[in-house]
Amino acid sequence: MTETTRRGMLKAAAAVGTASVVLRSGPAIAAAPAQSKYVPLPADAKPLPMGPDGYRLDRIGPEMYAVTAGGTQSAFVVSNRGVILLDAPPALATALPHAIGKVTSKRVTHLVYSHHHADHIAGAAAFGDIVRIAHADTARLIRADRDKARPMPTRTFTDRYSLTVGDQHLELSYPGPNHEAGNIIVHAPRQRAALMIDVVLPGWSPFSAWGTADSVPGVLRSHDVLAKLDIDTFVGGHVHRLGTPKDIKVSREFTYDLWNETRKAVAATPSTPFFGQVEPGHNWAAFKLWYDAVADKVEPVIYRKWLHRLAGVDVFTRDNIVTVATSQMLDAPKDL
Ligand SMILES: [Zn+2]
Repeated sequence: MTETTRRGMLKAAAAVGTASVVLRSGPAIAAAPAQSKYVPLPADAKPLPMGPDGYRLDRIGPEMYAVTAGGTQSAFVVSNRGVILLDAPPALATALPHAIGKVTSKRVTHLVYSHHHADHIAGAAAFGDIVRIAHADTARLIRADRDKARPMPTRTFTDRYSLTVGDQHLELSYPGPNHEAGNIIVHAPRQRAALMIDVVLPGWSPFSAWGTADSVPGVLRSHDVLAKLDIDTFVGGHVHRLGTPKDIKVSREFTYDLWNETRKAVAATPSTPFFGQVEPGHNWAAFKLWYDAVADKVEPVIYRKWLHRLAGVDVFTRDNIVTVATSQMLDAPKDL
């Protein structure tokens, strides 16, 4: 779209969003600053109040809890033999032990790594010499990065792993490469909850580069697997709140919508003419023009449908169109 059209859409969207904030929340909660060039956050994507100790402790199931602070999230399950921790983000280094101590006097005996990224597990060393479980690819990535803050897993698996600790039972499974190779789903059937990090972010559109995905089609396939789980609560690892099956459904609808709209635009936009518009042999410049032409077709369609349904649509959608267009050329999946 032209820059004028784009600015017009954003201006109109910002006006609607700001009005709804004032009507619903009153003057106590500040709307986005007037100078912000981005659409204000939808009501269900805004930060929630923190507890007195600077974090949120949410009870998910009879023996499962989530801890959230500063847009980072992890969870733990209390068994009669000890606590099973799901990730140890450094941003929650103080909050996690504090929150666990509020709920139980039992010590942490098991730590499940969701994936190898430092923002989710680089607080692990503080929990000492405990059982650490991860996918085999996560172990390989940790070994390659040689970070003492991420001690090696003591148990690994490739497809499925049933973790029983005392009276608690968790099902760990791997849907294939997605946000990162080795990023797993943790299902706690008795808690009617599941955790998968950095794939579904409740209330939000994806972060830059399809949530920095190792496999763009893998992120879509992971949504399919998550959508089939019989759960009440979902832990996504970031943003401000927990999710529900509806959040998984909406995120899946968005990711498929962006994928399908981009596929249509790629099919309707041959790249050959762009090579005639640049210095002979300047392939990067030709591809940049082609990406821009594809994004110009997809962006307004996505804005029309999604600008007010998910947070951040106007921030990274254009970048994500480029990521998806590249994936369609290189991953070229046949089953999506
Ligand atoms: Zn990650």
